[in-house]
Amino acid sequence: MNNDQSTPASNFIRNIVVRDIKSGAHKTVVTRFPPEPNGHLHIGHAKSICLNFGIAAEFGGRTNLRFDDTNPLKESEDFAQAIMNDVRWLGFEWSELRHASDYFQQLYDYAVHLVENGNAYVDSQDAEEIRTQRGTLTKPGTNSPYRDRSVEENLNLFEKMKLGHFADGEHVLRARNNMSSPNMNLRDPVIYRIRKVAHHRTGDHWNIYPMYDWAHGISDAIEGITHSLCTLEFEDHRPLYDWFLENIPSACHPQQIEFARGNLDFTVMSKRKLRQLVEQGHVSGWDDPRMPTIAGLRRRGYPARAIRKFWKEAGISKAESIIPMGVLENAIRNDLNERAPRVMAVLDPLKVVLINYPEREMEWLEAAAHPQHPDMGTRSVPISREIWIERGDFMENPPRKFFRLRPGGEVRLRNAFIIKCVDIIRDGEGNITEIHCEYDPDSRSGLPGAARKVKGTIHWVSVEHGVEAEVRLYDRLFNVANPLADKDRDFLEFLNPDSLKTVKNAVVEPSGSNGGPGDFYQFERVGYFTVDEDSKDPQRPIFNRTVSLRDSWAKLNR
Ligand code: ATP
Ligand code: MG
Repeated sequence: MNNDQSTPASNFIRNIVVRDIKSGAHKTVVTRFPPEPNGHLHIGHAKSICLNFGIAAEFGGRTNLRFDDTNPLKESEDFAQAIMNDVRWLGFEWSELRHASDYFQQLYDYAVHLVENGNAYVDSQDAEEIRTQRGTLTKPGTNSPYRDRSVEENLNLFEKMKLGHFADGEHVLRARNNMSSPNMNLRDPVIYRIRKVAHHRTGDHWNIYPMYDWAHGISDAIEGITHSLCTLEFEDHRPLYDWFLENIPSACHPQQIEFARGNLDFTVMSKRKLRQLVEQGHVSGWDDPRMPTIAGLRRRGYPARAIRKFWKEAGISKAESIIPMGVLENAIRNDLNERAPRVMAVLDPLKVVLINYPEREMEWLEAAAHPQHPDMGTRSVPISREIWIERGDFMENPPRKFFRLRPGGEVRLRNAFIIKCVDIIRDGEGNITEIHCEYDPDSRSGLPGAARKVKGTIHWVSVEHGVEAEVRLYDRLFNVANPLADKDRDFLEFLNPDSLKTVKNAVVEPSGSNGGPGDFYQFERVGYFTVDEDSKDPQRPIFNRTVSLRDSWAKLNR
């Protein structure tokens, strides 16, 4: 169980747990993470995962993974598999794998118990009638004409609902609570509906399926959950959660505690919206690296431990907030900065010929794998007479503060030596095709001239040894902070048309081409990159930009 960085040091939920253990109310902590298998998990779910697993682990307790699979129309085994994969990848292992569908019989029996005690009844109105009778926040609801059916009639109808005697929508089972409660959730909520569809686990056995509120609390009780942690929108459901548990013969009554959802700007997080992006082809799939899904972030190169640390630092509270995407990106950058081996890659190559470098010769230069971590060792970087530099690192008529290569100017090649621009070669149309430079052999690291200072340092790759690569540059998926803010407009209108730019002819130094999918690097002066799973040919690797470099590096060297 992973508890290194997942639980915020102190938060109100942890305080409740500490109190309950001290008071002896609970001997141990049992939590659950209860996703509906109707899509892939996203970064918001990761907050709940870190909280539930983290807090139980901290106190030597346990956490179940429970699929809340009560809505057969939208759910699938594939989604369930993907969710398990994502939870494990985030670094957590569940104590038991459970399904709300494991409890369908128990849930039914408890519903019969409600009916027997006059706490539930079969309503034979349609959904629209039930809705109009619910009333509003200022107006009490009206009782259903079926509310006073006898226990016998209710039992009989409920059983026939179960056996499939009726069509979808003909009847529902409702809790008999209080139609004038100020809490709308208590106004005789529906607890069972008829759905004559197969379930991916129970097949054709059931013709009725329980509603979320009914299934959820009872599932918690069956599993002996001590603290049922959920997001704030369920706060108003808590009285119902408690009422159900008080009215069934269950010894266990978990405590529901609500916390604020994790939100990020420049993205959307509801599974329904994410599904729309996938199904309409706005992204390549649930694991498109621009998606806020765990699968997308993983493919993008976001490390699991950085995601855990991000949520730890964000903390747990009851105050709704939206975290700027830059905060997440910074967490990723900080983590990768510590660990990513450095390599050089040129994304927009311009050829430089070192005219005083002997033809047909080359040498291997030793460079640190990581400037702050000698323990990560060194790499060998080949250099020869022709090298690539970034087109943007040369300017013919630069502004005053341009410290990279210019006509007659000097610049240091990172990990190598100083070069001086002596000539510009053009094609017939006047476009620059090559730069000719002289190199200063004495300025190599290790030699007396190494200390000679020039203002700029640029990265480069040997033409002969460089490996051609495809590089996918990802940016935010939306170009406004909140794509859902304007209720009159479709969030798809705010898709960022530049969220993916593909560079086909980048070049990377040889040590950057040995990795397989998931390996990550810092391309010096450019950013953090990971090998994409599409990458099959080591002679033509494919990289995803995980996150760009912190600006200070750029300022320092440009
Ligand atoms: P969505 O609207 O994205 O489908 P959901 O809440 O319906 O989200 P579930 O699969 O039901 O998705 O969620 C499983 C658990 O994850 C629930 O306990 C839910 O409260 C929690 N969760 C979902 N989104 C977030 C979020 N943004 N921050 C924290 N917890 C979340
Ligand atoms: Mg849901």
